[in-house]
Amino acid sequence: MTEPVPHSLPSYLNPNDPGPWGIYLEQVDRVAPYLGSLARWIETLKRPKRILIVDIPVELDNGEVAHFEGYRVQHNTSRGPGKGGVRYHQDVTLSEVMALSAWMSVKAAAVNLPFGGAKGGIRIDPRNYSQAEIERITRRYTSEIGVIIGPNKDIPAPDVNTNAQTMAWMMDTYSMNEGGTATGVVTGKPVALGGSLGRVEATGRGVYVAACEAARECQIEIKGARVAVQGFGNVGGTAARLLYEAGAKVVAIYDHTGIVHNAHGLNILALFDHVRTTGGVAGAPDTESLTPTEFWSLETEILIPAALEGQITHDNADLIHTKILVEGANGPTTPEADDIISSKGTMIVPDVVANAGGVTVSYFEWVQDFSSFFWTEQEINHRLEAMMRAAYGAMSRVAREHQVSLRTAAFIVACTRILEARQVRGLYP
Ligand code: GLU
Repeated sequence: MTEPVPHSLPSYLNPNDPGPWGIYLEQVDRVAPYLGSLARWIETLKRPKRILIVDIPVELDNGEVAHFEGYRVQHNTSRGPGKGGVRYHQDVTLSEVMALSAWMSVKAAAVNLPFGGAKGGIRIDPRNYSQAEIERITRRYTSEIGVIIGPNKDIPAPDVNTNAQTMAWMMDTYSMNEGGTATGVVTGKPVALGGSLGRVEATGRGVYVAACEAARECQIEIKGARVAVQGFGNVGGTAARLLYEAGAKVVAIYDHTGIVHNAHGLNILALFDHVRTTGGVAGAPDTESLTPTEFWSLETEILIPAALEGQITHDNADLIHTKILVEGANGPTTPEADDIISSKGTMIVPDVVANAGGVTVSYFEWVQDFSSFFWTEQEINHRLEAMMRAAYGAMSRVAREHQVSLRTAAFIVACTRILEARQVRGLYP
């Protein structure tokens, strides 16, 4: 494994524990030998263009004032405005938001969208706050980062624990401050506000398309394939449903309430009903519960981690027995685990392509907002599928050409595109 170049680590990160940003740096180092003369620009990828840390003071429902820490990081804007979600989570750190912003640069370029990469977050456990408090927090955060976002500058979107309502508040706050109606400042908005049909399902649908492409390459039939999914939200839930509808046997689902298993295949539609009434998969009829160790040890054709990052590490990588691992989440596999799993012959479809369906339909939404002309859901799904297949194909060709993993191949494709743009733009001044 290549050592991260010490002078690349920004002074504000802990050199002994650089966190997710350290993982990203390792991934970039693996790509450097394949970039030819463009490698002279590689430091560009190792430093976010702009970081904004904001204080968010908010009056709570009980009259007290609380302060939250918020971030917006623009990693790279060589190919277009920054693009990336905003997450609300108690464990959000600057290093995490930096890494996620960089993965957005790579993702947008890997799918060939005219965007750079950005990400935002607030360090908060949203479960502890009322809807009215979350609205005030969202509005103040938007106002604070308002100086650097905009339809041509940086376009936020939903991510972990944020949704279409969050985007509506962000759009409204930005528009009020600007004195206009700027629908294109965020994507993932409600359809009533210039949102796109198909956006909610887009990430999961993209994961499904990526899984089908990988299965075709590995000569595995989707019909009857055993599938296990970690996460049953927007991404994992949609991917599980589409695979189930295509005839796959979804044998296990792991969510925040527990893990359910049925060796003959779960009834995914019934599981959605159970989750709607009880709040999670735990205790669903016709299922047995598993421990996390049992879940990761399941023998499957397709495994989809679609929850948070850092789920597959050197502690559980050895347990995994699957032919294809499709990364629905951002950064679910550590580089160490990646090596262990790949050495067993498992094909890993990396996050930057596997979960790019969300940002792809975000792009469609942004285009529709600018042209004020809206497409049908069928057209959106059709274009999404075409873009996902093209991205998968480009990655797969480079992997074969250089005999590298799909992840390194996706990074080669993406970093080449970013650094080409960087080179022709030139250094200012
Ligand atoms: N949060 C999503 C992601 O990580 C979507 C970002 C976007 O649509 O801009 O890809």
